[in-house]
Amino acid sequence: QSRPTEHKIKALSKDVVNKIAAGEVIQRPVNAIKELLENCLDAGATNITVSYHQGGLKTIIITDNGHGISLEDLDIVCRRHTTSKLNTFEDLKEISTFGFRGEALASISQVAHVTITSKTQEQQCAYKAEYTNGELNIDTATNQPIKPTPIAGLRGTSIRVEDLFFNIGARRSGFNNHAEESRRIIDVVSKYAVHSAGVSITLRKQSDTKTDVHTPLSQSITDNIRTVYGAKLAKELLSLEHENKQLDYKITAHFTNPNYHEKKSYFILFINKRLVEHKGLKKALSSIYDGYVPKGTHPFIFVSLTINPKSLDVNVHPTKEEVIFLRDEEIVSEIKEMVAVKVAGSDSSRVFFARA
Ligand code: ADP
Ligand code: MG
Repeated sequence: QSRPTEHKIKALSKDVVNKIAAGEVIQRPVNAIKELLENCLDAGATNITVSYHQGGLKTIIITDNGHGISLEDLDIVCRRHTTSKLNTFEDLKEISTFGFRGEALASISQVAHVTITSKTQEQQCAYKAEYTNGELNIDTATNQPIKPTPIAGLRGTSIRVEDLFFNIGARRSGFNNHAEESRRIIDVVSKYAVHSAGVSITLRKQSDTKTDVHTPLSQSITDNIRTVYGAKLAKELLSLEHENKQLDYKITAHFTNPNYHEKKSYFILFINKRLVEHKGLKKALSSIYDGYVPKGTHPFIFVSLTINPKSLDVNVHPTKEEVIFLRDEEIVSEIKEMVAVKVAGSDSSRVFFARA
């Protein structure tokens, strides 16, 4: 006896599967910008400019002076699971860039119109190509892919993302607050700009001459904090540098002294050059300030960790944001201890703290 058709199990079409996967990686404009920015940094760029329109929903243009994408790679660059960064499953353990899944461009091209212009050092000129659903656009007259076309350009890559979520009506209409999306974009680009000493990063709204974020080339992280978050905060910073060979990690941290506090909570964490979340570390470091800063206010904490990728579980979340160390407790408690010592040592009312 056959079951009613509405209960029949059917395989989803490839198109639907790809769209679902895309929606996990790219949930809002800022996710696209973060992925694109990471690609520029992976490509060794020293100059990156980002412009966006309508909170990134109408247009995102990101241009870098990195190593570029070769003409032959332009054909496949937007396909799912195409990457120059990972070959075997074993590589997963070794990979130092988090951008290892080859899903970002594929996902973006599922939910937006993507145009890539790129030139490598070796090429005489740049090439430009347009993509839909992971593939080169199709010429409707011949039903063949439209090959990349030569165009003048400097070494590097420029990626243009237009009409994000144009084909997902419900998702798109969820974003009527462009100011909120802009705020998220500025937040993430600011953090990368601070971390990327030696790289100039510029963010502006399209048609604005004023920049949202701009860091000059070869500044230190503390210079970048001053440039991005202001001199008032920067002059209250304490710093920590430490390497633990046994646990196989290195840390650079900048955090405000106990006499400073602000309404907004900043806990900026980079692990192996990626902006990530680690709830345990955030909680541990924030709690150091509990006895110092007034309730409802927060310190500014910036942490950059380099850790052997073997000691890192990067595969925990599809957006790769939440990270866990394999020896989590040991690392978190050691870092907390070192930061606590610095914070306590600079407190002008230490007697009060000792009794508290
Ligand atoms: P992944 O970064 O995980 O490899 P992406 O979809 O983000 O996957 O990118 C796919 C590939 O496209 C990268 O591996 C890289 O070779 C190339 N690529 C993307 N963006 C750039 C860029 N800005 N400069 C040079 N190559 C790039
Ligand atoms: Mg990537």
